[in-house]
Amino acid sequence: MAKLYYRYGAMGAGKTMDILKVAYNYEERSQKVIILKPKADTRDGKMTVKSRVDGLEREGMILESFMELPEETIKSYDCILVDEAQFCTKEQVFFFAHVVDDLNVPVICYGLRTDFQLNLFEGSKWLFALADTIEETKTICWCGKKATTNARFNEHGIVKTGEQIMLGGNDSYISLCRKHFCEGNLGPALKSGK
Ligand SMILES: [Zn+2]
Repeated sequence: MAKLYYRYGAMGAGKTMDILKVAYNYEERSQKVIILKPKADTRDGKMTVKSRVDGLEREGMILESFMELPEETIKSYDCILVDEAQFCTKEQVFFFAHVVDDLNVPVICYGLRTDFQLNLFEGSKWLFALADTIEETKTICWCGKKATTNARFNEHGIVKTGEQIMLGGNDSYISLCRKHFCEGNLGPALKSGK
C-alpha cells in the first residue's frame, strides 16, 4: 500500500541530495520516478533540482504542470518525489493524498519545517497533518546541537521581519539550534546580530 511521506529538516540537511539518491535507486531497479517542485521555488531556474550540498542535479517537473496530466500518466509512476514541499498549497498536499490513496503511488515530500520566523509553511502544515510517515533529516548548528531553524540574515545580523518567501542560499540563510535562533547568534563565522 502506498504512503505519503514528509521528510523535513533545516536547510543544509541534504534533503535534495536524498531525493536524487532515492530517484537513482528507483531507476536502478528500472522503476519510473519523477521529481516535482512547486512553482514558488525558482532558485535554480525552472526545472532543475539541484543539491546545494554536493552540487548534483537533474531535471524535474513543475508540480502545477504535473497536476494537469491525465491520471493514467500519473498512475504510471512508481514513485513521486517532491522537492521544496514547504511551498505547496493545501490543495496540492490533498492532491498528493489522492495520488497515494486512489492511484496507489507513493509520494515522498521533502521540505522545511518552519520559515525564518518559526511559522509553519502552508505546505509543511498540511504535510504534518496528512502524511502517513513523518521523518526528520538532521543537520547541526555551529555549536554542534541539532539545527531546527532556518535563520535569515544580512550584513547586520539575523533578520526577523519580511516576506515569508525570499529565495536564497548560504549567503542569506543559516541553520541554527533553537537557542541560537532565539538569541540571534549566528556563530563565530558570521557577524552576530547580538
Ligand atoms: Zn546552536
